[in-house]
Amino acid sequence: MAEEKFQFQSEAAELLKMMINSVYSNRDIFLRELISNASDALDKRRIERLRNSELADFTPEIRISRDKEGRTLSVSDNGVGMTRDEMIQYLGTIAKSGTKEFLAAMKQEGHDPHPGGENQDQLIGQFGVGFYSVFMVADKVEVISRRLGSAEACRFTSEGDGSYTLSEAERDCGTTVTLHLRPAAEGGKDYTDEWTLRDIIRQYSDFIAWPVVMSVTRHKDGKEVVEDETVNSQKAIWCRSEAEVTEEEYREFYRHLTHDWKEPLAHIRLSAEGATSFKGLLFIPSEAPFDLFMNPKAGGISLYINRVFIMNDCQDLIPEYMRFLRGVVDSDDLSLNISREILQDEPIIRVIRRSTQRKVFNELKKMLESGRETYEKFWTAFGRIFKEGIVQDHEHAKTILDLALFHTTARDGEGGWTTLAAYRERMKPGQEGIYCLAGRDISALRSSPKLEPFARRGYEVLLMTDPVDEVILADTSMMGEDFPKLLNVGSGSVTPEGEEERKEAEARLKALEEDFAPLKEQALSSLSERLEGVRPSLTLTDSPACLRDSPNGLSFQMEQLLRAAGQTPPPQKRIFELNVEHPLIKKLMEMAKNKDAQTADLIALLYDQSLLLEGAALADPAAFARRLNKVMAQALGA
Ligand code: ADP
Repeated sequence: MAEEKFQFQSEAAELLKMMINSVYSNRDIFLRELISNASDALDKRRIERLRNSELADFTPEIRISRDKEGRTLSVSDNGVGMTRDEMIQYLGTIAKSGTKEFLAAMKQEGHDPHPGGENQDQLIGQFGVGFYSVFMVADKVEVISRRLGSAEACRFTSEGDGSYTLSEAERDCGTTVTLHLRPAAEGGKDYTDEWTLRDIIRQYSDFIAWPVVMSVTRHKDGKEVVEDETVNSQKAIWCRSEAEVTEEEYREFYRHLTHDWKEPLAHIRLSAEGATSFKGLLFIPSEAPFDLFMNPKAGGISLYINRVFIMNDCQDLIPEYMRFLRGVVDSDDLSLNISREILQDEPIIRVIRRSTQRKVFNELKKMLESGRETYEKFWTAFGRIFKEGIVQDHEHAKTILDLALFHTTARDGEGGWTTLAAYRERMKPGQEGIYCLAGRDISALRSSPKLEPFARRGYEVLLMTDPVDEVILADTSMMGEDFPKLLNVGSGSVTPEGEEERKEAEARLKALEEDFAPLKEQALSSLSERLEGVRPSLTLTDSPACLRDSPNGLSFQMEQLLRAAGQTPPPQKRIFELNVEHPLIKKLMEMAKNKDAQTADLIALLYDQSLLLEGAALADPAAFARRLNKVMAQALGA
């Protein structure tokens, strides 16, 4: 095979230039990336060997070699290696799909893609340009790799100029990455110096499970001897005592595990002794990855047996509604050749799962009580997923509901979260229950006309925006008998007035019945397909109208949910509530009585407006615009 030259994809070339020219404040991380890749490759080879006893045994090792005069540094592993195609796929395409988004984010942040800065560093890290960080310290990189089971090795070289070459090479199974270092005179460190390298490895890669070996020169008995030394402690971070591990070490480990550059919100240590003994370390990330909501099967826990990696994304270790967690669980009690398929039925796994679940509940409770700010961040990112547990896990539904935060009208603006218990404490004497309003969009809920009678009387209302809230609203029996009922103020039958007040209002409406009848008839006939009833409102004050769910059908919220899930429930007819004390409705009542031709358009506009206020889409926006234009033209005398 002759040497062949390839072009990087176009964005990649731009990114390379930017990285090379950037004054990256932490160039050292290139070594972390290379060692991390080597460690992954060793994990993979070990697993292939476990599954296939015909493969030769091997002694995993990551070797750092340096040449001060020749100014090269190489990181070599005897892991799975890469085929020629894999080298093209993984090394010839920077950060795979992320590159475009990365550059877009850079531009959006207003960065000139040349000068460096803290934000830029964060962005680079966040998009995991991994292998490419080598160009911060090297002007030429050579990768020689041979895939386990393949007869040939391949050489990849690049000078970070937008192209790379591939050619034939020789080596055993594994990968060697050799960097031709830029001159150290650029003010940077000398990456061929033993102590510089040791420091970096201790800082970033100490916990790597495989030995990182370097040959060092020592003076013994007046003679120079060259010997191999393992420079990382290889101590699994979850096996060290809590007091021994620094925050920085937790962060590095989290990065190694997740490739997430952002700091995790919290870590949770797991430890159990006895019939089943296991240890573990879990992290709560600070943000949800983009596919977390769509993919209920996403799971971020890696299983280790006796400190050796067995598999990642081990879904059976935690319940689905805790799938936002990342981390490792390590047990000595499992058999090394355990497979994904039998994991679920493994009693030890079930024990681990229960105990992990309990620990996570406890830690969240602690955080809620003494780290409210962090807890609210957690809830904002993952509350929606965590709450799914109320439906999935009846046994712990109460625990989860106790941990749940809800938006509330009590503390307006951003955040504004409360627990059910805190709401209960603030309830007014004689208040019938916990007032709740469900909808899709928090800002639409905050300005909903349905809140008016409650706001006027100083009652607090919980605002619920998650799919599972419908279920909570329907049944809170898990909270115990003496727990106040959740009352849905969207229904129209829940009102905050006392008995007296209500009777008075009813009498007032009765007196108006005759005047209201023509408008009611008009509304029912022109919106017959969408309305089950029209009634004067007992509760609205400032708004002219609102829509209520019929007690006979699905709630509007549920109908929208089903539609979003691809189902086609029959359109639900609703109840149109009109505020007969509002000047607009008074005028409309008069117009309907006089059979004014404009009444139908106006009532249809009011209906659409009520839908818009709920954050819902209009069935026929064109008709809405046509009517509105007509009314505007008339108002302007055009
Ligand atoms: P990341 O590690 O975040 O996926 P990298 O750019 O560091 O991104 O590496 C890209 C891919 O190249 C890796 O996911 C892996 O498949 C492959 N790779 C890198 N280094 C090695 C190695 N030493 N041995 C085997 N495969 C490797």
